[in-house]
Amino acid sequence: MAYTITDECIACGACEPECPVHAINEGDPIYSIDPETCVECKGHFDSPHCVEVCPVEACVPLE
Ligand code: SF4
Ligand code: SF4
Repeated sequence: MAYTITDECIACGACEPECPVHAINEGDPIYSIDPETCVECKGHFDSPHCVEVCPVEACVPLE
């Protein structure tokens, strides 16, 4: 499992430096998460950090 970024993203950049495994990348027009790299913050934080910092709830579990 991994997290992903939806079209709700406003490209604020808040999540990118918060990812402990550098899975989040700036894109055009929105940011993206590499599903192969995302570890859902397991072993780093109690809950997914990108979800916590995103102001528009654009970080969601990848279906
Ligand atoms: S859930 Fe954690 S590991 Fe996955 S992209 Fe978000 S901050 Fe990075
Ligand atoms: S914190 Fe949310 S709105 Fe900001 S770049 Fe990340 S996904 Fe997009």
